[in-house]
Amino acid sequence: MKPIYNFLNDLPDLQDVPVPFLPNRNVRRYARSIGCFDAGRGCPFSCSFCTIINVQGQKSRYRNGDDVEEIVRSHIKGGVDTFFITDDNFARNRNWEEIFDRLIHLREEERLEVYFVMQVDTLCHKIPNFIEKAQRAGCRFVFLGLENINSDSLLAASKGQNRITEYRKMLQAWHSVRVMTYCGYILGFPGDTPASIERDIEIIQKELPVDLLEFFILTPLPGSVDHRELYMKGTWMDPDLNKYDLEHACREFDSMSREEVEGIYHNVWGIYYSWEYIETLIRRTTAAGMHVPRLVSLLFEFYGSYKFERLHPLQSGLFRRKSRTACRPEFPMESPFVYYPKRLWEMFRTYVPATLWLSKLLLLWWKIHRDPQKKSYLDLATTPVENQLDEKLELFEVTEAARNTVAKAREKQQSLSEARERTH
Ligand code: SF4
Repeated sequence: MKPIYNFLNDLPDLQDVPVPFLPNRNVRRYARSIGCFDAGRGCPFSCSFCTIINVQGQKSRYRNGDDVEEIVRSHIKGGVDTFFITDDNFARNRNWEEIFDRLIHLREEERLEVYFVMQVDTLCHKIPNFIEKAQRAGCRFVFLGLENINSDSLLAASKGQNRITEYRKMLQAWHSVRVMTYCGYILGFPGDTPASIERDIEIIQKELPVDLLEFFILTPLPGSVDHRELYMKGTWMDPDLNKYDLEHACREFDSMSREEVEGIYHNVWGIYYSWEYIETLIRRTTAAGMHVPRLVSLLFEFYGSYKFERLHPLQSGLFRRKSRTACRPEFPMESPFVYYPKRLWEMFRTYVPATLWLSKLLLLWWKIHRDPQKKSYLDLATTPVENQLDEKLELFEVTEAARNTVAKAREKQQSLSEARERTH
């Protein structure tokens, strides 16, 4: 046996090979039947917290339009028309246009209903026609790794491709074609403190038209550069891999204790999904002509998971199944006479307030729906961007790193326009 089998320099091609997918009988067991497939694997970027580079490789490999069409048609035959394209970054899939054109043909020529959600990077709006074709191909949601709004945190995570100066323009571009955005936000970068995180979330609420934001604790997943570096430095990491989920702080942080990180993680959901801000989100979605019931159900799913189950939405569902016998071996198994009454009380405490909260949310939606001014709603985040670098945003002023990033972007823009003038 060798200590390491490294296939990353010799990755198999994905084209014209059998495509793995779940049979329809399994797909139908989701609350909303979703067919998942990867149209490509690998990502050219190298974010230090991400394991993709070691799992799928940095050299991207792609399926072609024929493969994707075959997957979509086979699902449609079984009654599944909604898909999750699981590429970590579909915007960097070299065949994106061929695949979108094929889906557009299915939708516009053959009148097949096809919808999908995909993950892309924050510079995708710079790819000509990408956003417009995504919408025509059936994209209804995109997931974006916003990660943070501080340039120094992004650089520390080797995520320099995320440019705070582009965030507003990119998010507005998706809204202009009525596609909703989910963004991931990571807590625990160097320089993050509970107060700075609260301040940053307020800036996002005011200045960026994000629809749903989900929070993660910076976790040194085995396989990531962060894990390797912390290991080499001898920094403490939790030896219990069961805790490398979404709710535990598993490492030491530069500017916060582990308790502070977990504390702010638990507070930040309520700060972002405050009742006033939920109203703003519904008003923005209504004014942009997007499908409001979809937002309302996602608000319930996303914030409800945390609020009522204390679970990250990626670990939750409609109804939580728990089994008395499925606890970890080091915990004692409870007697049925203790476990079942406790579980019944827990279910009552969870689902009754959840139902009341959903009713309140539906009433809020109804109130906004009846507002005659609903289509003219505008706020700072949704005011169209002309030249993003001319804007006076707190996002651009809040830290020295932000001011430096904006100054550099302005210099670059200035020298580009001077070069263009000289050419003319
Ligand atoms: S976080 Fe996203 S952009 Fe960064 S390496 Fe991973 S897949 Fe690529």
